[in-house]
Amino acid sequence: MARFQCAICSYDGHAAWAGELVCPRCGSTIGVRAAVGIEEMTEREADAFEAAADQLAKEADDEEGE
Ligand SMILES: [Zn+2]
Repeated sequence: MARFQCAICSYDGHAAWAGELVCPRCGSTIGVRAAVGIEEMTEREADAFEAAADQLAKEADDEEGE
């Protein structure tokens, strides 16, 4: 289970984590954020998730300060 937030269709809710950073409503891979327990992922999934998160951070670094 993961929480997804999609900037494309404004989806904000929980859905099963399928190993990919994809909006469960519209299927977009762009502008999607997900919060998922790292312990729920395999190592390969975790690597892919981190890579996707890094990519998003570069594309949307003006969205939220940290
Ligand atoms: Zn969406």
